[in-house]
Amino acid sequence: MRKKLLLGNWKMNKTISETKEFLKDIDELVTLAKEKDIDIGIAPTYLCLETIKNNVPSSVIVASQNCHYLDSGAYTGEVSVLMLKELGIDWSIIGHSERRTYDNETSQKCNLKIKKLLENNCTPVYCVGETLEQFENNRTCDVVKEQIVEGLKDIKLEDLSKIVIAYEPVWSIGTGKNASKEIAENVCAFIRSLLVDLYNKEEAEKVRILYGGSVKPNNIKEYMQEKDIDGALVGGASLKVDSYKELIHNI
Ligand code: PEP
Repeated sequence: MRKKLLLGNWKMNKTISETKEFLKDIDELVTLAKEKDIDIGIAPTYLCLETIKNNVPSSVIVASQNCHYLDSGAYTGEVSVLMLKELGIDWSIIGHSERRTYDNETSQKCNLKIKKLLENNCTPVYCVGETLEQFENNRTCDVVKEQIVEGLKDIKLEDLSKIVIAYEPVWSIGTGKNASKEIAENVCAFIRSLLVDLYNKEEAEKVRILYGGSVKPNNIKEYMQEKDIDGALVGGASLKVDSYKELIHNI
């Protein structure tokens, strides 16, 4: 049985003081998550990671939104997994579509980052998903397959279940146009079938696959009832405590 996971991606939002304001109500969120038996987490900017890590119980996942695939060197503006680990940060989002779009993040680069995270006993949340044009041209499966095959290249069987995958159609992120539960389930089931082909059924069944894209308190429940959707990666609706609380409540 895969435990449901709700991960808030704060993107480039919230200063340290705004983060502290949010954290005033963290106990309520933690209690509710415990009642619902789900994992919850937040991925803030690098600057706010330490503030969150030091002010939440260890049950709350704190993730970075990116990392580099090398330990150190002349890479201005980058942060390594070793640096994150020193803060106790052992989860990282990889390959978010905004990074694929604005920062030339390729599946090959994601693969190096995923390997570096696994080497360091960290959990990658690997994002995949098609653009609107690809969706309209019925290319979703081809695109997602390429992203999965390249992103997970040479990842060992014993490491597969340490990875979380997030299916996030680009056309649904921040647009208010969430994918129907049928579309989301079909693609998440397709991803799981790819994992069966690439690895085996037993290990594929252990992998948590999230849906992300305009998930809100009023639509989260429908996704959570689907067989292959194990949680949600949520942007906008994770920014306010009340809305985050409602998301947990409605799972
Ligand atoms: C995201 O940033 O991963 C995301 C899904 O954003 P939103 O929920 O705002 O669409």
